Amino acid sequence: MTTSPLFYQAGPDMPEVSHGRGVFLWDTHGKEYLDGCSGAISCNLGHGREDIRDAMLAQLDRVAFTYRTQFENAPAVALAHALVEMTEGELEKVFFVSSGSEAVESALKLARQYFVARGESQRRHFVSLRPSYHGSTLGALGITGYEPLEAPFVDITTGSIKVPGPDFYRHRDANRDAHIRRVLDETRVRIEDAGGDTIIAIVVEPVGGASTGARLVNKTYLQGLRALCNEFGCLLIFDEVLCGVGRTGSWFAYQQWGVAPDLLTTAKGLGAGYYPVGALLAREAVVETVMASGGFQHGHTYAGNPLACATGLAAVEAIRREHLLDNVNARGHQLQQGLETLRSRYPWIGDVRGLGLLWGVELVMDPVEKTPFPAASNLFARVTSLAKEEGLLIYPRRTLNGLAGDHFLVSPPFIISESETTLLLERLARALDRLDREVVAPLLAELAASTANGITG
Ligand code: PLP
Repeated sequence: MTTSPLFYQAGPDMPEVSHGRGVFLWDTHGKEYLDGCSGAISCNLGHGREDIRDAMLAQLDRVAFTYRTQFENAPAVALAHALVEMTEGELEKVFFVSSGSEAVESALKLARQYFVARGESQRRHFVSLRPSYHGSTLGALGITGYEPLEAPFVDITTGSIKVPGPDFYRHRDANRDAHIRRVLDETRVRIEDAGGDTIIAIVVEPVGGASTGARLVNKTYLQGLRALCNEFGCLLIFDEVLCGVGRTGSWFAYQQWGVAPDLLTTAKGLGAGYYPVGALLAREAVVETVMASGGFQHGHTYAGNPLACATGLAAVEAIRREHLLDNVNARGHQLQQGLETLRSRYPWIGDVRGLGLLWGVELVMDPVEKTPFPAASNLFARVTSLAKEEGLLIYPRRTLNGLAGDHFLVSPPFIISESETTLLLERLARALDRLDREVVAPLLAELAASTANGITG
């Protein structure tokens, strides 16, 4: 067998994809997989959609690429209007990009340029959460709070002030209100330590992605962040690269709590996996200030090209036409109930959390102390490969130094039906049953034996 020249992180036994239809994918050996995580939470409308294919082909027949400084293009204008409408006019301006990392880079640079234009160039710090994930390029990585990804690059990224976010599962405060108060107090202290007038923006994912396993915020927390931004004169940025465009059952996740940001990033599901397209949305006042100062000193070659925007527009129109936000909520409810049932079956399922069709399942060795399994047991990888054997794709992350146990995301396409959701849960149940018998039980027995030997020896 020839060795592949690709060097992605992938096991040697990775199957080769043949084709996809709806929520299913098939490999070249004919094995079927239910896409329980929409690829990388990006194929939000399922595979093989003819409406999106037709829209892309129609655009290809007209023109695939034009450069944004040479031509206006109708799909870009229409998609920008659609995005503004999705925020109910809260954010009025749109800057297109081709990925989530590019959207985040654009947000960081627009925010910085805004303050430079206002004569506040002493503002040079971003505040972000640990854990969090904001992208793989150096700027986005700098505000990311995920140690394994940061480690090789900490000396060469600009970094950010990392503060804890809400953790409704692991916190040890008296109740949720006390927890939010403490988290906000700590954020305030860190901002004051740096100097309130040096902060550019606070950047938060309203619903976490893989780094946190779909951790949620709440209204009090977002209101608290908004109050801090108002007090210290900095901007509020929501990173909805993963949780935006309907994933949580509303167009944008922040709408569930009614606190709008100044800038918002989105990507992944915007092109529904058919073509890369992302966007930075911003308040008009921010954009006007930057444009009046000589323009935004930023841009990517493929940004806002006609084919990308025609694809994004077709995806958004499909969500509207097929009332898919209703399905996200209905199937999300079904998924939540099914995951809770599985949780009640296995003590090592510590937490099930999420919204809409974005659910995180966290695995812990000790459900009372919420102690993660030893990192070396690689539970996140074991559960993912067992699920794959059972014909189900899920999206995993390893345990994180006391901040989270091994966890995985369940986030199927918005088109998933009731019976397909039942099938997803059945395949997951089979994988978890095997995990219990083949991995967790022997591991716990081994750990108990070594503890006993330690005591007697
Ligand atoms: N921001 C968030 C919240 C994400 O989940 C991701 C990707 O997972 C990114 C940014 C980076 O997006 P991309 O991988 O498209 O560059």
